[in-house]
Amino acid sequence: MPANAIALFGGTFDPVHQGHILPLLELADQFHWQEIHLLPTFAPPHRPQPEASHQQRLTMLQLACQQDPRLKVNDWELRTAEPSRTIRTLRYFRDSFPQQPIYFVMGMDSLVQLDQWLDWQQLTDYAHLVALPRPDYYLDDASATLHDWLASRICKVGEEHGLAGQVLLPETCLQDISATEIRQWFAEHPHHDETPHFLDAAVFRYIHEQNLYR
Ligand code: ATP
Repeated sequence: MPANAIALFGGTFDPVHQGHILPLLELADQFHWQEIHLLPTFAPPHRPQPEASHQQRLTMLQLACQQDPRLKVNDWELRTAEPSRTIRTLRYFRDSFPQQPIYFVMGMDSLVQLDQWLDWQQLTDYAHLVALPRPDYYLDDASATLHDWLASRICKVGEEHGLAGQVLLPETCLQDISATEIRQWFAEHPHHDETPHFLDAAVFRYIHEQNLYR
């Protein structure tokens, strides 16, 4: 696998949690990635607006990324100040890195709804897609159209070729964590002062300092 591959991981990150970071680091080891860009979204189009501000989500990501030098915060989507669209992000990275393989990582919950994304059938023109296992989400949940589209692109990790075009389903440890549950947890535990296992310690301190999710 080429050492110059670029990995991208987009999300609302409201807040970033260890269900994002731990599988990403497993992938970095499996795929030998040296650089993973974490891209916080600008006003996600299909969902309620984040509770934390752009700056707070960015700061939490910067703190979480101190766990490993391969993790880089990338504020490109925030700076566009337009609703995030993965297809546009992938075109931008493809233009910026024309000769490097690009891997776009998402959770299985996102993969099985891919056919709701803008220009979804073109996503693999620009990048390989990598889906992280997530509890309660299975490939069989995809629509028949998406299932057929995926079937012709899925290949084994290490057998993908070229700069883009394949879909990969690596094995990583299941992380039964979601940002929604974490926001709920803070509302129910406003005085808890020990870092819970699902958050990075610096992110947990920041959430307290900023009085977020109360
Ligand atoms: P929310 O609960 O607010 O929907 P989330 O926990 O799903 O948030 P996002 O920031 O929306 O987090 O997710 C960014 C990406 O991370 C998405 O591709 C999502 O599928 C993936 N992801 C989030 N949590 C997990 C998890 N526990 N395991 C695997 N993938 C995950």
